[in-house]
Amino acid sequence: MPTTVVTGSASGIGRSVYELLKERGHRVIGVDLKDAEIAADLSTVEGREAAIREIRALTGGTLDGLVCCAGLGVTAPDSGLILRVNHFAVTALLDALFDDLKRGHSPAALVIGSVAASQLVGQEVPLVETLLAGDEEAAVAQIRDLDKPQLAYAASKYAVTRFARRRAVAWGPSGVRLNVVAPGAVETPLHKASSEDPRFGEAVKNFVAPLGRAAQPSEVAELVGFLQSDAASFIHGTVLYADGGMDAMMKEATF
Ligand code: NAD
Repeated sequence: MPTTVVTGSASGIGRSVYELLKERGHRVIGVDLKDAEIAADLSTVEGREAAIREIRALTGGTLDGLVCCAGLGVTAPDSGLILRVNHFAVTALLDALFDDLKRGHSPAALVIGSVAASQLVGQEVPLVETLLAGDEEAAVAQIRDLDKPQLAYAASKYAVTRFARRRAVAWGPSGVRLNVVAPGAVETPLHKASSEDPRFGEAVKNFVAPLGRAAQPSEVAELVGFLQSDAASFIHGTVLYADGGMDAMMKEATF
């Protein structure tokens, strides 16, 4: 029975991934602020370290899967928190648990990115460079000065996607696969909060995928389940969109 850690397992996409992997015979260890096997605040260094310690205590240091779903949207209490959870918590867990994954059976890790990253592809964004340099406090200070939650969200997802692709190249010889799933709009509490927000609601509601609807969390979880399975044994370092055609609509020439 594969053992898989899922962050953000208490709600939305993470909840759906947790349930799908359980149904498919995984031992799943959820990590979330509450209502999970491991309660931890991944926005802080101490919270991440506590989560890693508890994961090791439950697994003995051998892990077959890691799915990083925990994330915050544009309605988060502050933009720095978006960077801490969406980027730095993910990079910290991937790096810390790489050795545990190396000991696993057909190991695979996955990051939930976002189609929101597409808008920054090919652009020079100083915040993205700071995120990729791994300087958490400098990045948080930079976004505090700018006060732009949409930029924080897009930059966090663009940078974490690039980080994952860099690690995929480095991890190749170890056999630990690593992929990114980039959802479009998915009907979750995060999406509901964004679409009801007086600052961002109109834009969120008007950004409709060619398929003409938002996804259900299970439609994203199906793709995650596939990528985490042996059926995807040669898929590594890729970004797979589950976005109803949004990425194609925004940038048909770049893929
Ligand atoms: P959600 O709010 O339903 O779930 C997010 C989960 O992350 C929650 O359970 C929350 O408690 C957890 N979380 C947040 N901060 C945390 C912290 N500091 N420590 C531990 N856990 C924390 O949202 P969702 O829509 O399911 O989002 C899941 C992922 O999908 C996120 O990374 C999000 O950016 C991404 N995403 C969502 C959409 C969408 O439209 N819903 C689109 C693209 C990408």
